[in-house]
Amino acid sequence: MNENQWTHLGYKFDAASEHEAAGSRYALLRRDDDDGDGLLVTGEAARHFTPAAADHDGRDATTPWCIARLTPETAELLMQAFPWTRPVRRGQHRFTYGMGDRIDCATPGQIQAIAGYPVFPIFAQQSIRELQLTRRSFPDVIAAAAFAVFAADYRGGYGADGDHLKSLEEIDLALDAGCTMITLDCSEKIDTTIAKLDRDVRRQRWQELAENVRRHYLDTYADRDYPFIGHIPRSEVERIVLVFHRAIDFTQEAWEHIQKRGREVDFELSIDETVQATTPLEHYLIAREVSERGVRLSTVAPHFSGEFEKGLDYIGDTANFRSELENHQTIAEILGYRLSLHSGSDKFLIFPHFGAITSQAAHVKTAGTNWLEALRVVAICDPDLFRRSLEFAISARPEAERYYRVTSRVEEIPVLAEVSDSDLVSLIDIPASRQTLHITYGLLLHQPWFREPFFKLLRREAGRYADFLTRHTRRHLDALGLKRS
Ligand code: ZN
Repeated sequence: MNENQWTHLGYKFDAASEHEAAGSRYALLRRDDDDGDGLLVTGEAARHFTPAAADHDGRDATTPWCIARLTPETAELLMQAFPWTRPVRRGQHRFTYGMGDRIDCATPGQIQAIAGYPVFPIFAQQSIRELQLTRRSFPDVIAAAAFAVFAADYRGGYGADGDHLKSLEEIDLALDAGCTMITLDCSEKIDTTIAKLDRDVRRQRWQELAENVRRHYLDTYADRDYPFIGHIPRSEVERIVLVFHRAIDFTQEAWEHIQKRGREVDFELSIDETVQATTPLEHYLIAREVSERGVRLSTVAPHFSGEFEKGLDYIGDTANFRSELENHQTIAEILGYRLSLHSGSDKFLIFPHFGAITSQAAHVKTAGTNWLEALRVVAICDPDLFRRSLEFAISARPEAERYYRVTSRVEEIPVLAEVSDSDLVSLIDIPASRQTLHITYGLLLHQPWFREPFFKLLRREAGRYADFLTRHTRRHLDALGLKRS
């Protein structure tokens, strides 16, 4: 393939991305404008691809060639030719790390960041909420990860997580796209009203449950002693069943649905979006019950006590977190799965404990701070765009707060007019401005005045962005006690 052959179409040939499979050659073509990169295929395989435009079509030439857009359809053909670009399950890896990429630009830096660490990355990880806010689909997200993996020749394997899925329909969307991890979010099936009921009303609600359900739970769990939990009184079993029995049934239903579709996935049960922290007994009863019903849990995300706010460090009693975690870890070991920590970005205060107590056999989900590292590039390279972005974020924050709970206050953000260009980057690290920029990502990404210069800048400063992501990600991995070889 010739380096300069594609400049007349506006592309730069990305020589590092060139690969061969079955006699055909594949490479990415980069461009600086907003039209997007392309995949150049030369050889017989080119015939299978759809050209991005009429002058991108050489499929009838003696040596067929084609330049395709980086769409999910193109990604599927690429994954067939290079199976290592397709997401897989975690296999024997002990530590899995959810990274996600809301802007389709972070994966190259993430690949650079994890080099040498014993980490199985989940590059593709999005919730339905994130997909809606970024106007993408699961196939879009997996395609972006596959192209980045291809370009970097990363062969360590990666996962794709359909995150916080709440219904069988959402699970189907994730499975159809090829997700290898399913995170089931039971929050809509958890009855948070039970805690507020007085004893008599609760008693009555218990009596309303089917008799065989009541008998099953009492016979199995009530008035027993467990070495790591202690005595389980009948009243406590009744309370937990009232709160969680629909979530337990739904977990079984979701698992059986996935099995019926013939799919093997890493299955995570997330009960973190409850009002109160998960007690060890709740954790044990729920996980043991679904395990008994045949659900093979890969990870469980309890709700740990303390505050896990977006973009901030852990707020709470770390000694208490530690002792709670020890209990959850014991249960996870007995029942045979790993613990999962959500909202894990920037939780440096608890990482050493989490890493040590789980012996680094665990899952940690991060995501949103990739976006903040991208804004760090903006603050340094385009001060005017950064000022305008922060002003917009401040005005859009009330709307964003419908989705995210944050406690910093807009009044705590320094007056922008008084911040010099060279100090703008410090606003990324001040909690109030950090959280404001963090939670407004979806709204900012919808603004044409932001989108275009932002993505152009990230393309131009790809190396700088990758370096920022590397530094940021490695702070997490180092604090978790993972050793780079
Ligand atoms: Zn979560």
